[in-house]
Amino acid sequence: MKIMVPVKRVVDYNVKVRVKSDNTGVELANVKMSMNPFDEIAVEEAIRLKEAGKAEEIVVVSIGPKAAQETLRTGLAMGADRGILVEYDGETEPLAVAKILKGIVEEENPSIVLLGKQAIDDDCNQTGQMLAQLLGWPQGTFASEVAADGDSVNVTREIDGGLETVKLSLPAVITTDLRLNEPRYATLPNIMKAKRKPIDEKTPGDFGVEMAPRLTTIKVEEPPKREAGIKVESVEELVGKLKEKGVI
Ligand code: AMP
Repeated sequence: MKIMVPVKRVVDYNVKVRVKSDNTGVELANVKMSMNPFDEIAVEEAIRLKEAGKAEEIVVVSIGPKAAQETLRTGLAMGADRGILVEYDGETEPLAVAKILKGIVEEENPSIVLLGKQAIDDDCNQTGQMLAQLLGWPQGTFASEVAADGDSVNVTREIDGGLETVKLSLPAVITTDLRLNEPRYATLPNIMKAKRKPIDEKTPGDFGVEMAPRLTTIKVEEPPKREAGIKVESVEELVGKLKEKGVI
């Protein structure tokens, strides 16, 4: 079985993002970029399935600028076998990404496409669902456990107030939630080995996909600053202040 893992290059989750002075977006110049954290979890899960003998090949795919090669190399250093870069310099929207992924699925015939539940830059949480719809495949979203078994896979989903386990017939789309696993760090020898693993280069045109954005960002704003707190001398004073503010 082949597993395809789409990985997005995003601002590193440790970076304190800054809004551009003209409020058109966030500052990307000289900012550390990394693999979307949910996609690292997806790569890790694919590797675990391969280590358990349930999968033979893992293909990582990224749609983004030339520099997204680094993101693919991270996946290859973790343990994926090969990469596909679909080069595009602008912002990518979920529908266009899902259409490109559909084109790659038709060429690669994976049994599972394992995506992150959301990209931490656009917070869309749409690509996996759209891809499943375009392919007409079953989907298991927000996975906290994945158990592959022959021609089906059981996905335990994190839902409000509990867990739900669904059985999907393969091929299927799965999206990862935070508690699925803890991704491994790539070791130095594996980082070196990853440099020799193949990365195919494609363009959106190869899949006949129009990338022009359908959304226009009107405004991006910082969250309001928190007001400074005050110190109180006694519980009575605290209760008085809370009553004054109408909190109790
Ligand atoms: P989103 O729907 O944008 O929140 O993204 C959900 C998931 O789709 C991500 O975690 C990735 O697995 C995948 N994805 C989204 N955009 C891209 C991209 N440009 N390249 C590769 N994978 C992507």
